[in-house]
Amino acid sequence: MPRSYVHEARKRVGPKKQRIRPIIERLAVEHADAAIALTFRSELELLVSVMLSAQTTDVNVNRVTATLFEKYQSPEDYLAVPQEELERDIFATGFYRQKARSLRGTMLMLLEDFDGQVPRTLDELTRLPGVARKTANVVAAELGHAQGIVVDTHVRRLSQRLGLTKQEDPVKIERDLVKLVPREDWARFPHLLIWHGRRVCDARKPRCEDCVVNGLCPSSRV
Ligand code: SF4
Repeated sequence: MPRSYVHEARKRVGPKKQRIRPIIERLAVEHADAAIALTFRSELELLVSVMLSAQTTDVNVNRVTATLFEKYQSPEDYLAVPQEELERDIFATGFYRQKARSLRGTMLMLLEDFDGQVPRTLDELTRLPGVARKTANVVAAELGHAQGIVVDTHVRRLSQRLGLTKQEDPVKIERDLVKLVPREDWARFPHLLIWHGRRVCDARKPRCEDCVVNGLCPSSRV
């Protein structure tokens, strides 16, 4: 896109500080059902599901955990079987060796350092083996303790298109978003962008003509 066009488009929609609230409000009405797509019944199941969701779809994880969570109900259960058995049980989520190692390391640390409970802070969560910042952010937000904003591929693409960040790196994008998005919306904001990205603002073919925020978006094609 030519620079002058981008400049004109930004001028047309106004500063991002003024647009962020109406963007959130409109997306919240449009995607009132936006929520995490993983199925879990406990904090431990949440943590395991999010760890397994790396490099695969939520649908696939839910398919695997439907039986996995019948067999593994406590941190001890994951340590009571040989690593190879756990690998077989999570095989369909991909990267099963690495994920099984991370799960076992995490369960051990939960038992040794956290009384078998899932911790709340990002610092504690990211100490768990195989738990990177994105996983920790998802878990903390779902537990009602959002301390940052989850940046996945949809959040990255939509934040850029909506002119909320010029960054490419997820950590820098998150830094821009936490300055802009009201704290009370940190947990739901990524869900709104993810669902809008899936339903309307497709990576290849955004449906700008059907988009509720097209008047607030510098990348709108209408
Ligand atoms: S107007 Fe188009 S580019 Fe902007 S958010 Fe909507 S669908 Fe995406």
